[in-house]
Amino acid sequence: MVDQGPYIQGPEVERFEHDFARQFGLGHVVGVNTGTDAVAVALRALGVGPGDEVLTVALTAAGTGLGILMTGAEPRFVDVDPGTRTIDPAHLAASVTPRTAAVVPVHLHGFPAAMREVMACAHRHGLAVVEDCAQAHGAMCHGQPVGTWGHAAAFSFYPTKNLGTAGDGGAVATGDKLLAERIRMLAHSGWSDPRRISQAAAWNTRLDALQAAVLNVLLLHLEASNRERRAVAAAYRHHLTGLPVGLPPMDDGAVYHQFALTVADRDRLRADLEREFHIGTAVHYPVPLHCQPAFAPYARSRLPVTEQLADTLLSLPVQPEVVAGHEPQVAAAVRWCLGVTEKRRAA
Ligand SMILES: *Cc1c(COP(=O)(O)O)cnc(C)c1O
Repeated sequence: MVDQGPYIQGPEVERFEHDFARQFGLGHVVGVNTGTDAVAVALRALGVGPGDEVLTVALTAAGTGLGILMTGAEPRFVDVDPGTRTIDPAHLAASVTPRTAAVVPVHLHGFPAAMREVMACAHRHGLAVVEDCAQAHGAMCHGQPVGTWGHAAAFSFYPTKNLGTAGDGGAVATGDKLLAERIRMLAHSGWSDPRRISQAAAWNTRLDALQAAVLNVLLLHLEASNRERRAVAAAYRHHLTGLPVGLPPMDDGAVYHQFALTVADRDRLRADLEREFHIGTAVHYPVPLHCQPAFAPYARSRLPVTEQLADTLLSLPVQPEVVAGHEPQVAAAVRWCLGVTEKRRAA
């Protein structure tokens, strides 16, 4: 590939766009440079811009909110459901205003958001829907792939994602051919024909050909790797039963980008696991978007469920290459640390 070129667009990018679309029934896929760009380009192609409000969640990566800001629209934050940890359909419906133009549900940790309810609300109010699938490549909602529910979907191929490349990468998917052409035009300098005349204020954001070549190999393994993540999750569930922790929702369509517990004394458990067992955990996400300076101007209210989860979520190691076969030890370590905490409390 390095010997052959071309390094911009070309057959590797075309093959990836085609194969990724076909594998998940996504219709049309346009590679871009990042997941953040994918959110922005998708919204812009759907006509979202300055003066508009876009509803999304605050329990997500910065890219969701930054992509909205890149269009000139204002993000508005909706609370999540405590069970699914994804957008709360009732709060969504209550948050629509005359300025609301779109909603960006996030399939957090690889769990499908409640897309039936989201789409029903969107139809009622004439909202565009861009699914943020950055953590959910291959996930299913009611047996239908995520990314096929909304008008468009944003994917990231950042190295840590379920389908992660060797650098930055992203894609927009849509079932609508005309929308796909508009997305491609907006991602490629506003060009819509070989004359390379910019037709609109656009971005230059492309999936790099070298990254596409990596993705073409990794795509072949995605479904197997998602199955392994589900097996890790099932083992964790089995071995963690009975402990004073909240487990992730049960959902056959989930692809476990994370396996996140909720636990009251999260920071202590995290420190104890690291110190006593050298088990590295993470928090996704400790500071919800509405509490970050970049988004504070758009925060209108507290989000109690989001804030509670941000204080209590703890992501256990879930990458199959790292943890497969070791789930009982990780669970035993959690059990030991929680027992110690109990003893300290009693003392
Ligand atoms: C990673 C991620 C993004 C941003 O993707 P980048 O490729 O890092 O720009 C957006 N949304 C969610 C939910 C993510 O996890």
